[in-house]
Amino acid sequence: MPGGDAMSSRVVRDHTASWSHPEGLLRAVGNGFIALTILAVVAVTWMSYDHHLRYYCGYLRILSQMRAQHISERIISRHPESWKHEAARIEALLGRQRPEAHLSLEECVYDSDGRLIAAVGACRGAPCLREHAELRDAGVSVGMLEIRMELNPLVRRTAMIGTVATLMGLVAIGLFGWFPMRGWRESQQRVCFLAEHDPLTELLNRQAAERVYAHERARASRHELALSVLIFDIDHFKRINDSYGHERGDQVLRALTALVSEQLRASDTLVRWGGEEFVIIAPHTTVDLAVQFGEKLRAAVEAAHVGIPEAVTISIGISPCERTDSLPAAVDRADEALYRAKRAGRNRVERAESG
Ligand code: GH3
Ligand code: MG
Ligand code: MG
Repeated sequence: MPGGDAMSSRVVRDHTASWSHPEGLLRAVGNGFIALTILAVVAVTWMSYDHHLRYYCGYLRILSQMRAQHISERIISRHPESWKHEAARIEALLGRQRPEAHLSLEECVYDSDGRLIAAVGACRGAPCLREHAELRDAGVSVGMLEIRMELNPLVRRTAMIGTVATLMGLVAIGLFGWFPMRGWRESQQRVCFLAEHDPLTELLNRQAAERVYAHERARASRHELALSVLIFDIDHFKRINDSYGHERGDQVLRALTALVSEQLRASDTLVRWGGEEFVIIAPHTTVDLAVQFGEKLRAAVEAAHVGIPEAVTISIGISPCERTDSLPAAVDRADEALYRAKRAGRNRVERAESG
């Protein structure tokens, strides 16, 4: 409808962003759920990783104790700097540099004279196994354990838990949020629409028209532009109802709405004023131009087919809108002109006397 879409976006505001609105609240709960899911995945990952780490460290410790059971005094060093130091000692024993990447000492065991007698660490790859043998040959009791941090099962498990949790979250949001919300939102939109529109023709109703008029009136005053209103009424509509039935009468109203809408400019607003009476708010339109337009409209309706075999005609009353006019005041003046058009035989256009 001309002016209708722009009007809908102007008058129907979205209050759903607020927490006090049920939809806003549900959206917040949904977001909270997603955040909890992410937190759960992170927590499971961390716990799982931590568990693996503890497991291997514990294993290393037991191993080092087993290997060093004949030693009375044990110094267990875990400080990275100490590891470096011990690594250097091992390198000295081996008589060559040890590639850093392949060995990280977890625990070193010394005898009472401070000699390294056991080293337990994590290493990756064959060179470490070789170092192990070489150290043993050099007289150092080495509890070197090749550990492969089994990241694959960890990643697999985490990914699986994450996927399942995310899917469950999506299903929950879909079941408890999105689907009911969609229906609810649609009914909300319908309620908002009906607050502003007439259900039969889907044109703006009087209340919405008042707001459009106030906006156009203010704009016309600011820029010193003309503004006119037209009111038109179907001639002998009661007869149409009586002859063809009420339902057919409704069809005529809808067909007429479509026909008139096609004749309007984008800036014009067509309103169902009540029954078979319609109002057009025409910005930037002097009363002379409005009369010309009214004549064109009257002729177009008379010439068209609007749902019944015989011609349907309309009578039109036109009034300019003064600066201080409310919409009902301007329409009242146009209505007087319409009354004159009816008395003068119908299917006519009349302007308000002051215009
Ligand atoms: P006039 O030329 O003087 O306007 O004659 P009229 O018969 O059109 O005048 P009147 O205002 O007396 O009758 C209007 C009729 O329009 C009466 C009412 O039943 C009918 N009407 C009002 N609203 C609707 C509607 O939504 N649907 C249908 N089908 N008829 C309606
Ligand atoms: Mg009528
Ligand atoms: Mg009437």
